[in-house]
Amino acid sequence: MTNIKRIVILGCTGSIGTQTLDIVRRLPGRFEVVGLAAHGNAELLASQVQEFRVPHVSLGSDGALSAFRERLGATDWNVETFLGVEGMCSLSTLPEVDLVVVSVAGAIGIKPTHAALNCGKDIALASKEVLVAAGAPTMELARTKNCAIYPIDSEHSAIFQCLQGAPAKSIERILLTASGGPFRTTSREDLQHVTAAQALKHPTWNMGGLVTINSATLMNKALETIEAKWLFDVEMDEIEVVVHPQSIVHSMVRYKDGSTIAQLGLPDMRLPIQYALIYPERFDSGLPRMELSAYANLTFEAPDETKFPSLGLARHAVAQGGTMPAVMNAANEAAVARFLRGDLSYPGLIGCVEEVMAAHTAVEPTFENILEADAWARTYAESR
Ligand code: MG
Repeated sequence: MTNIKRIVILGCTGSIGTQTLDIVRRLPGRFEVVGLAAHGNAELLASQVQEFRVPHVSLGSDGALSAFRERLGATDWNVETFLGVEGMCSLSTLPEVDLVVVSVAGAIGIKPTHAALNCGKDIALASKEVLVAAGAPTMELARTKNCAIYPIDSEHSAIFQCLQGAPAKSIERILLTASGGPFRTTSREDLQHVTAAQALKHPTWNMGGLVTINSATLMNKALETIEAKWLFDVEMDEIEVVVHPQSIVHSMVRYKDGSTIAQLGLPDMRLPIQYALIYPERFDSGLPRMELSAYANLTFEAPDETKFPSLGLARHAVAQGGTMPAVMNAANEAAVARFLRGDLSYPGLIGCVEEVMAAHTAVEPTFENILEADAWARTYAESR
């Protein structure tokens, strides 16, 4: 008996979305793509819809929607279309859907993720902001609806893999690896003057603009510590960030008996995506293999927290609790946008996040409060 999994991909034209479709392509007969949501890339969406015969789509704007209809007009394929965040919610809650891949950029994924969980759908989560900003209500919803949240983030997939078969409460420490970003060896003085173009050059991973800048500031790792806290139910002081520039060890778990389990692989996101899509199975989809002898030098070092204050900011945000992590995340997204358009310096970027957090008093992290704090933080960060 073949078990066809019916999936929806939110953010289908981005880096994770296109790689998810590559896994679907590589494992024929295992998936049916029921819905695709894109922000604005109508051309790519139209070609995906034709290739995978997708019956439902959602786009970010009316303009993108008409561009998509125009693209598809010449074909015989009939598609039901939806619009915006509500459109993503509609796709995620279609009765036939088994699993929703959430790979949109930023906190916009919270609402559709909650909509999907409310309808009992499993989630494959790439948008870490959903757990950073709304960890408590999201995990609570997953628990009460008995839904799984499979991590796509490579480090969290690694941790998830290292945890297979482990008895409950046997974790001593999570060792979250970080490439260190493009400025690992840049001096504090030189860091004052780096440009957006320099920050956009990531040594090992090829990702979207927000994630790449977050990798340069280590904010990506800071967000990942909070993501790990929620996914694996551990405290912040049980998560240690380890800089590992080769990005071969994707993370580790140290157990209470002193044993450390690591997951290794080429830095290829299709591996964690595939694991999230077909967990707990492991099929050969023909992805490239790693020759360990090609990586004779795997190095590990502690992060320089004076050079990269974002890790401390994440601990502070969790200690404050409530809506503070949502504010940190939203302020960071706004500050990154400002940095990318040359409106903030590199040190000014994290400075802006600190300033917004200092101006916020954390409140209970209900869904409404989180969205309100998120919106406030973006506006405030833009005005600083
Ligand atoms: Mg990651």
